[in-house]
Amino acid sequence: MLKSINPYTGETLEKFKEHSKSDVSKKIKKADKTFKDWKHTTFARKSELMHNLAEELINNKKDYATAITKEMGKPIAQAIAEIEKCAWVCNYYAEHAENQLKKEIIETDAQESYVRFDPLGVILAVMPWNYPFWQVFRFIAPALMAGNVGVLKHASNVMRCAENIEKAIQNAGFPDGCFQNLIISSKKVENIIRDKRIKAVTLTGSKPAGSAVASIAGEEIKKSLLELGGSNALVVFEDANIEESVKTCVQARFQNTGQSCIAGKRLLVHESIYNEVVEALITETRELKSGDPLEEDTFIGVMAREDLAKDLEDQLNRAIQGGAKVVLGGKRNKTYFEPTIVINVSKKSPIFLEETFGPLISVTSFKTDMEAIDLVNKSDFGLGVSVFTEDFERAKALISQFDDGAVFINSMVKSDPRLPFGGTKDSGYGRELSSDGIKEFLNRKTVYIN
Ligand code: NDP
Repeated sequence: MLKSINPYTGETLEKFKEHSKSDVSKKIKKADKTFKDWKHTTFARKSELMHNLAEELINNKKDYATAITKEMGKPIAQAIAEIEKCAWVCNYYAEHAENQLKKEIIETDAQESYVRFDPLGVILAVMPWNYPFWQVFRFIAPALMAGNVGVLKHASNVMRCAENIEKAIQNAGFPDGCFQNLIISSKKVENIIRDKRIKAVTLTGSKPAGSAVASIAGEEIKKSLLELGGSNALVVFEDANIEESVKTCVQARFQNTGQSCIAGKRLLVHESIYNEVVEALITETRELKSGDPLEEDTFIGVMAREDLAKDLEDQLNRAIQGGAKVVLGGKRNKTYFEPTIVINVSKKSPIFLEETFGPLISVTSFKTDMEAIDLVNKSDFGLGVSVFTEDFERAKALISQFDDGAVFINSMVKSDPRLPFGGTKDSGYGRELSSDGIKEFLNRKTVYIN
């Protein structure tokens, strides 16, 4: 039995009976059967359904968002924004997929030669609880437009969201087997990956989960895409606009109560402006309103599960033992973790080296551009980096020196359907979104006609 527990009230919201082995097999069979027709569906029809799906989300955004808030504690305004973003990705692929997947003609000595993009079949998505709608939609919108179908193993604590996504896709008019939710624990994932009818797997989550799933996929010679954690740096140079930069850094770190893979977790500040930035950071962070996630003006909710909040507390305690100093927050009450600022964080500190998945920002100073680059790249993760400076030429000269999958100048790292999204190193491999994302699970078929 899987349970949904409201992390703000502690109330058990719902219990879900797990699908049996034979239920799962029937669902995969249905997906495989649906694929055989779906892959021949025209782009015009697929676009129509995808626009319907966007409309379904917008028309019911308050209901879908409320389920998110209740299951994982995201403040309601941010949950509504998440649903709106899902509608955006649906409309984006409805409008662009056909063009992104048109055949690529390549001149050779043949009369005609080109690459065409054919779908693979049933794709398994293993998804996390932090953006319970968005993480699924950024997979399923391009997958369906490309002619694939999907089955979902969602995080055990957000099964109502998973069921609602299945319902939304059905309400939009997609054939039943295009997208199905599997109510299963993570132990059941291995058999599903090994099933012949499953053609590939995508996972967003932690490194251990990614490593387990990718190892099995590797044994089965199936493609995998991994979007794992991150420990993004926010680099503030001495010529940055301090007020604007700090505002952006606070958003980058504390939105979604700090539980985002692309959150800016490590603030790196030039030593000449260190004190000024820390002061501004404390002032700005104090303004964030904590409270009931269902209240419209709450910005900091609770963490999704108490074990995750305890993990963060443990990281903080180890950092303090190593010499780091808390200048704001630092206390935990069950799933609530105060917005926390930690200064004097060395490059050996656990909160510098490990991913911190909650409302805690670490602050470290640097002296030179080279030292800043070194600190950014010191992380085992490589999702993205934000650089704050008024000198664009200086910023552009640094871009190639970062290991990360994305560099944002004077902005927080954010996902956008139009831009590729993904990491390097322990942050995973492959790209989601944009034309890169839609091409991940396709047979790039070479055609040569003589
Ligand atoms: P997990 O990585 O454990 O969970 C993510 C998904 O993977 C869930 O659906 C989970 O299912 C599934 N899963 C876990 N282990 C396996 C496995 N061995 N085989 C197959 N599927 C598996 O994340 P947690 O919820 O435990 O969070 C732990 C940490 O992971 C966070 O503190 C954060 O650092 C990172 N994380 C990163 C995210 C990101 O956006 N990149 C999102 C969420 C977490 P089930 O829920 O049933 O265990």
